[in-house]
Amino acid sequence: MTPGYRCTATVEVHADTWDAAKTIASPRDNLLWTSDTILQCLIEDVDHDFHAAFLRTGARETSDVFLCWQDGVPDQALADLDCCLDRRDPMDIGCTIFRYHPGLCEWRYIDPPHVAATAQADQLLKELGLSPPT
Ligand SMILES: [Zn+2]
Ligand SMILES: [Zn+2]
Repeated sequence: MTPGYRCTATVEVHADTWDAAKTIASPRDNLLWTSDTILQCLIEDVDHDFHAAFLRTGARETSDVFLCWQDGVPDQALADLDCCLDRRDPMDIGCTIFRYHPGLCEWRYIDPPHVAATAQADQLLKELGLSPPT
């Protein structure tokens, strides 16, 4: 199977979407939010009904709140979905896309901007005389 690529759809989170996301309860003490203002779809670039990006940790220990949107549609929706958690090896943290997502898990597709950023970081570490973590 040839590796796929990450969906390139991005979205800017609406103010009312942030507000709505804040009202969702959480069982966790430290709620984690995305640090990005422009979110990129987490799904592989195959046919999918809606784009989805991680927004914050969810209402259950096993779920995350995803921002869902469609091309050309201004509406944004929130979905509290269980995570895929498929692992590449037993020590891995697992796939953070929602369960039963279309396409490959995040560690099996290629995200060109991420690859480029990682390569650049490796180069920087080399120039500083540090070795990248293995
Ligand atoms: Zn997408
Ligand atoms: Zn997955």
